[in-house]
Amino acid sequence: MDDCLFCKIINGQIPSDMVYENDKIVVFKDIKPEAPIHVLIVPKLHIGSIQELNDGNSEYLVAIHYAANKVAEKLGIYDKGYRLINNCGRDAGQSVNHLHYHLLGGKFLGAKIL
Ligand code: 5GP
Ligand code: ZN
Repeated sequence: MDDCLFCKIINGQIPSDMVYENDKIVVFKDIKPEAPIHVLIVPKLHIGSIQELNDGNSEYLVAIHYAANKVAEKLGIYDKGYRLINNCGRDAGQSVNHLHYHLLGGKFLGAKIL
């Protein structure tokens, strides 16, 4: 996707603070962190949102969750806990139309997400 911000980060056209990468996934720091640890877990395949998941690309969803655990371990929050958030669509505030999960942690986040 030529005009996709996260595709440009994935292919190196736009710089990012990368914390983890494998064959399916990149993980980089959110430019506007809302917790001491706030990274974005992003599939290398352009998938617009969870609404575009299907039998042909669902392996990326598993890879996202495995990457979350790996990154939590790498960043030292595996034992304390962490939160994965996905925003889908306008009312959820999705601002980049390339599937991504926010991984948040590094402090007590409270019982709810708002
Ligand atoms: P959404 O609002 O779509 O769930 O999440 C998009 C996230 O991408 C936001 O938290 C925003 O701060 C982050 N973001 C937007 N532009 C950039 C960028 O150029 N670089 C990085 N690292 N994060 C970005
Ligand atoms: Zn993309």
